[in-house]
Amino acid sequence: MTDCLFCRMVAGEIPADVVHQTDRVFAFRDINPQAPTHVLVIPKDHHATAGALAEADPALLGEVVVAAHAVARQEGLVSGDGAEPGYRLVANTGPHAGQTVPHVHLHVLGGRHLTWPPG
Ligand code: 5GP
Ligand code: ZN
Repeated sequence: MTDCLFCRMVAGEIPADVVHQTDRVFAFRDINPQAPTHVLVIPKDHHATAGALAEADPALLGEVVVAAHAVARQEGLVSGDGAEPGYRLVANTGPHAGQTVPHVHLHVLGGRHLTWPPG
């Protein structure tokens, strides 16, 4: 039993709109989408931040990025071997960046032109 929201979604205790998964990675639609495509990609194992994951299991961070790219392709955000129309990956870390769930997640955002810099 854990009180981590995303661990509980991986465990099936809280419903998720799953769009992709592997043995170690889980991807589901954000409940409060900020773009036409807004998917969260997470490792099934609990790690707090992207940096902590990279230190603990760099191969798993790579699997999370591969899964994010697969989701982007599935959502029509990348062509066969190109990068059109494109998408954004975001990994908020800590309160200044607005991280609200302490289980590392890559936001996959796309489907419209995304402004830069962010707020
Ligand atoms: P953060 O602010 O930590 O970078 O991103 C957390 C994300 O999780 C937010 O975009 C928020 O909308 C999403 N989120 C929070 N609770 C839930 C939930 O219960 N289900 C889903 N699908 N997304 C959630
Ligand atoms: Zn967790």
